[in-house]
Amino acid sequence: MAVKGTGPYNPKNIFAKILRGDIPCKKVFENEWVLAFQDIAPKAAVHILIIPKKPYVSFIDFTKTASEDEIAGVMKAAGQIASELGLDESGYRVITNAGENSGQEVPHFHLHLLGGQPLPPFPV
Ligand code: AMP
Repeated sequence: MAVKGTGPYNPKNIFAKILRGDIPCKKVFENEWVLAFQDIAPKAAVHILIIPKKPYVSFIDFTKTASEDEIAGVMKAAGQIASELGLDESGYRVITNAGENSGQEVPHFHLHLLGGQPLPPFPV
């Protein structure tokens, strides 16, 4: 069931629990801005979720309310993670679902990093 991409942040969502360490994840990267971990139901050979440490419901409020430093920090982290996973040569896809019509299911903003194989034409 897709979530609304706007409105109050629900601290009970699953990624908030991962950030608090209440439930485990397969972490691949962490810095001051983001935590990144393997998707539990990967849609490609490499499928990483990159989430800001601060509470944003979706790309909608992230881009409206995050500082430019944080927006840059999250995007830089996505590029760094892809590089560290060896994806620069082969290429990869970064997407985000924002709100009900996109099919967003977890109401904490996240980027999907997909790669490690030829990807089908967008949308994946
Ligand atoms: P979205 O539909 O864009 O909100 O994507 C949510 C993603 O979170 C899906 O690809 C799920 O497979 C993934 N997911 C849900 N729960 C977990 C979890 N506990 N650990 C890792 N990934 C998860």
